[in-house]
Amino acid sequence: MSEQKLTVDFCTCTATTCPNHPSNHDMGCTPCIEKNLKNHEIPGCFFRAAGGVKPTKDWYFEDFAALINSLTKEEK
Ligand code: SF4
Repeated sequence: MSEQKLTVDFCTCTATTCPNHPSNHDMGCTPCIEKNLKNHEIPGCFFRAAGGVKPTKDWYFEDFAALINSLTKEEK
C-alpha cells in the first residue's frame, strides 16, 4: 500500500513550529483538531477566517467568541 500524504493547502496557521501543523507530518488537520478539541480551543484558521484583531491572547472557545463579539460591535 502506498503512503498518502495529506496536504492542507487551505491551512492559514502561521505556527509552523507547532508539531501539529500540517507541514510537520502527513496526517492533515487531524492532530490539530484533536489537540484543539481536547483543550477546548479553536484552530487558528478559524480566527484568521473571522478576520479582525484578536482581542485576547489565547485560543479557547471564549477567545473566539470574544473575537466575534468584537467584530460584531465594529459593525454597529
Ligand atoms: S484545523 Fe488546524 S491544521 Fe487544519 S487548516 Fe485549521 S489550523 Fe490548519
